[in-house]
Amino acid sequence: MLLQRDPGKWKPFAGGTDLMVLLESGKLPHHNYVDIWNLSELRGVNISDSQVTLGALTTYTEVQSHDVLRREFPMLCQAASETGGLAIQNRGTLGGNIVNASPAADSPPALLAYNAELELRSQTGARWVPYYMFHTGYKEMDLRPNELLTKIRLPRTDQEIHHYYRKVGTRKAQAISKVCFAATARLSRNGLADVRLAFGSVAPIPLRCVKTEDTLRGRQIDQSTIDEAIAELRREIKPIDDIRSTQNYRLRVSQNLLVDFLLSLKQSSTASGSELVTS
Ligand SMILES: Cc1cc2nc3c(=O)[nH]c(=O)nc-3n(C[C@H](O)[C@H](O)[C@H](O)COP(=O)(O)OP(=O)(O)OC[C@H]3O[C@@H](n4cnc5c(N)ncnc54)[C@H](O)[C@@H]3O)c2cc1C
Repeated sequence: MLLQRDPGKWKPFAGGTDLMVLLESGKLPHHNYVDIWNLSELRGVNISDSQVTLGALTTYTEVQSHDVLRREFPMLCQAASETGGLAIQNRGTLGGNIVNASPAADSPPALLAYNAELELRSQTGARWVPYYMFHTGYKEMDLRPNELLTKIRLPRTDQEIHHYYRKVGTRKAQAISKVCFAATARLSRNGLADVRLAFGSVAPIPLRCVKTEDTLRGRQIDQSTIDEAIAELRREIKPIDDIRSTQNYRLRVSQNLLVDFLLSLKQSSTASGSELVTS
């Protein structure tokens, strides 16, 4: 109601794990926050035949402990387990991670690769947007001042999919990503299908690499496919030098991760000897 009455005056305060750091350092960009932690409508994981719907306040700990998420969306669980330490995982929320809009955040690549959709709700109604269209520029997004992010929806599939998630940081734990990569695909006689590639820390936004996906779709995995995909990826991502890494390092690691993903998919396909491949 406050968001509706004075659009732009009030901002949501969820787990506070991003906001408290800004408050402590005197860099909080806003003065008025409304605590949404106790809104039960924003909690819970709902399962239907075709999709899994998570409340925006779902914490990293809740993600990791959910059986269906562990089985069908392992990259999201891995991202959750590699986010901060236990205290952050108990308090930090998926909704906060998305709206904080850091290009280096760890759950967005997994959500992009799983083709997530977001429910944005105001007092006048709700709308769904595909997540890959939500981030429009550095810390800019398709979210109106009177709207809350309320739900995150993940489509389920009965196809056996290869999942590949890597967070590359300075340390194994408690590190901010230099590069983060999440990918899904399956390989059949007709070539690659359900290819989705998403990176963190290589652009001003968490990036779904749709052009690189296009070069892969319907192809078998051989050297010319790999070379074309790498060339397209180098055009599609725009990493920068910053305090954590360099443009060159990020470019090199991104292409290495893409190659490793494709080779691991091919290998598991050969090992299973079947038309469809699982991780
Ligand atoms: C020590 C430490 C380690 C961390 N490690 C990692 C890490 O490894 N990987 C990583 O990705 N992040 C990391 N983070 C960042 C942070 O924990 C996550 O981004 C977390 O998911 C934020 O969620 P929150 O609920 O705490 O958001 P908050 O701090 O409450 O809010 C963040 C932003 O989102 C907005 N917001 C929150 N919920 C909503 C909603 N439902 N609708 C609309 N707007 C909303 C708020 O207004 C604010 O602008 C770390 C933070 C700390 C302090």
